[in-house]
Amino acid sequence: MQTQNQKVDLPILKEKQISLYIKREDLIHPLISGNKYRKLKYNILTAKENHQNTLLTFGGAYSNHIAATAFAGKKHGIKTIGIIRGEELKEKWQNNATLCLAKEHGMHFKFISRQAYKTKDTPEFVKKLKAEFKDFYLLPEGGSNSLAVQGCEEILTSKDSVFNVITSAVGTGGTIAGIINSTITTQKVIGFPALKGNFLQEDIRKFVTKINWELQNKYHFGGYGKVSPELIKFINTFKKETNIPLDPIYTGKMVYGLIDMINEDFFKPGTKILAIHTGGLQGIKGMNAVLKKKNQLEIVE
Ligand SMILES: *Cc1c(COP(=O)(O)O)cnc(C)c1O
Repeated sequence: MQTQNQKVDLPILKEKQISLYIKREDLIHPLISGNKYRKLKYNILTAKENHQNTLLTFGGAYSNHIAATAFAGKKHGIKTIGIIRGEELKEKWQNNATLCLAKEHGMHFKFISRQAYKTKDTPEFVKKLKAEFKDFYLLPEGGSNSLAVQGCEEILTSKDSVFNVITSAVGTGGTIAGIINSTITTQKVIGFPALKGNFLQEDIRKFVTKINWELQNKYHFGGYGKVSPELIKFINTFKKETNIPLDPIYTGKMVYGLIDMINEDFFKPGTKILAIHTGGLQGIKGMNAVLKKKNQLEIVE
């Protein structure tokens, strides 16, 4: 599947002589993040080949990956189990837009404490899950494994070789790894982590051999899921001026960072940039519910 590149027209781009296109992977599905669809593709195929009829995976209450796994499972006739971080949600998951969406698509939940969640990758924990749920195909948190990277290698097409710079939001690193693998070496890939911490470099290196990439760690806005009124204002203005919706967890931070870097003359005049819109728009509802409670500026839908 190929998605379109949409040209962005903003005064700052003209002034700095930068051309910016956005690859609309968000249009793959209104609720399912484009990159999650790509990350699931070969995992689902493999599960089917191995006659596995259950997918089990992990995530937090706002996880795009949880929503996408539930959706893909339903579509392919595979049962899905979500191990969800936060025992307290057991009583009140109905208030959470992401979990409601996953439930609508038939996902079975198991809520575990934050402490237990930290041990989710240990053999002991997986053994307990096997005892409880019998046989299943296990997908890691965020869905990042080598089959997910393989799926994300299909985001760029040969036509995209005209771009000098490719940018992507980064969570667990699987998406950007696939993008890096499919670049030509004269292109540069810039990742914008949505969370704090420097562990990502290593996670990405596990899946790539090229070195034409870097991470910009300045634009996480305090960490995963954290936002500021300035970011929300940026997302709303960007939508008004370009008609492109951004999500507050990933793509909003990436485009904010990118425009900031353009402002600061990080890129040479004439640079052609392709920013990957990975989706994440299902998360806007949940974020708005949180912002409303705090009496803060909300994202215009
Ligand atoms: C999950 C997600 C990412 C990050 O993908 P990783 O492969 O985990 O780095 C980026 N953007 C959106 C919208 C996502 O849902």
